[in-house]
Order: sequence, then C-alpha cells, then structure tokens
Amino acid sequence: MVRTRFAPSPNGPLHLGHAYSAIVAHDLARTNRGEFLVRIEDIDGERSRSALVEDFLADLAWLGLRHDGPVVCQSGRLPAYAQAAERLRTMGLLYPCRCTRAEIAAAATASGRDGPLYPGTCRGRDIDPAGAAWRLDMGKALALTGPLTWTDELAGRQCADPARFGDVILIRKDAPASYHLAATLDDAADGITLVTRGADLFAATHVHRLLQALLDLPVPVWHHHGLLVEAGGRKLAKRRGAPALADRRRAGQDGQALADALRAHHFPAGILFAPTLNGEP
Ligand code: GLU
Repeated sequence: MVRTRFAPSPNGPLHLGHAYSAIVAHDLARTNRGEFLVRIEDIDGERSRSALVEDFLADLAWLGLRHDGPVVCQSGRLPAYAQAAERLRTMGLLYPCRCTRAEIAAAATASGRDGPLYPGTCRGRDIDPAGAAWRLDMGKALALTGPLTWTDELAGRQCADPARFGDVILIRKDAPASYHLAATLDDAADGITLVTRGADLFAATHVHRLLQALLDLPVPVWHHHGLLVEAGGRKLAKRRGAPALADRRRAGQDGQALADALRAHHFPAGILFAPTLNGEP
C-alpha cells in the first residue's frame, strides 16, 4: 500500500508551492488507492506557531485534499527522537559540539572550503555536552554502513552521498532534533512508503538514507518534484510576497479550481515551474 505525507512546518503561512507539494502527495496516494497523511513539523522552537496549523488544515480542505488518519505533530514525538539519539550515541557515532555558526564559517574559510561544511572542530575533543548540539561522526557512520543506494521515482537510482554534508547536526542546541533526524524517524513511524517533497530537499535524502541504515529503519521510495519559482528562478517565499493560501481562501477564491489548475501546470502570472534534472533543481 502506498502511503504519502505532506509535512509542513508552521513557521509561515502556506503558499502555492506548498499547495503544489500537497497535491503531488495527495494525488500519488489516491491514484494508488493508498493513504495520504498530514504531519506538522513543529519542533522548530520559536519559529513554530500553532495558530498556523488551523489555517493549514483549512487550506488543505479548501484545495479539496482530504487526508487520512489523525494529524501527527512532531512535538508529540520528542521521546522517540531522544531514544534514537541515545542509540547513536551508544554506537559512538555522536559527539557534542559548541561551535557557533560564525566560528564554523571562519574555520571553513580558513581551510579553503567554499561551503559551510563543518570542519570537525569538536570531534574527538572533551566538550561539556550540557546544552550542546550533537553531530554525527560521518566518517565513522560511513565505515559502519558501507555504500548505500536509494531510489527517486523521477530521478532513478542514486548512490547515497551523505559525506557531502560532513558531520551533520542531529540534535540541535535550540531544538530537540534536527530536520534530518526527526523527518527520517517520522517517515518510518508513520509507515510512509513514498516520500514526496520538493527537489530543494533532494540532497537531504542522502543523509536520511544513511540514518535509515544506522537505525535499521525501512527504506521508502522518494519522489522529489519540481518547484514553483519566481520569474527570476528563486523559490516562492512568503517573505518575497508569495500570497498565502489562507488569503486566497478568505478572499473567496475557488480552492478546488486552483488545485486543478496547479495539477494542469497552469500557474498564475509570474510563477514558473522548475522541473528537476536528475533530481536536483
Ligand atoms: N517541513 C518541511 C518543509 O516545510 C518539509 C519536509 C519534508 O517533506 O521532508 O519544507
């Protein structure tokens, strides 16, 4: 049975890009006589606003997207994240890190790297874990799992390349888990067989596949869809004026008709579709 999910973060209103993503997840479930779940990714501390969740559910109903089962909230799953982190810690795969973003950027620049890849400053050091972030020792993790593959419905079979992320943070200083850890555990707990999301998260899947191997989790298939972008190619964003679905809904626009237009790739003026090329945008 195919089970998909739409997993918005309540840190801003939904816009057309979210609508497109929800439609892809919903329709792939329905055409396969499967199930479509809604999960609220609300562990982003202060950025999460529970009042938005009510709007999200009203937006989905307005678009004609009926979901199955109860809405799941990540904030109800903190013990599961802590348990998984403890397991990885016991395996010797996590280490505490107290570096600030500025320190990481400075160290990365000093080592001649052009990205914000963590230079491993705290690895192997005696760091007070209280209030620290916890990072995955990527080298050790890869040595344990060996080569991994995963499959995207559109881009085909991929060789997992999580090393490009370096020692990723799995437990944040300011949140009970990172996106990578929480989403991977949740997709397993929710029995998601087909993970649908925008191609902007394609690369993150390399890390998720590694976490599945480390934690003995089932491996779904992925479907990273193309993105709705502004004429200049940038992703739609509320902060750049992408109108909220809730505003359209309250203004009396026909949500079902909007959903059908998005399905047919008929987008409002100024919005384009960036198809994926080998998966990545
Ligand atoms: N919460 C993420 C977002 O709102 C989606 C994560 C996912 O689908 O894996 O962009």
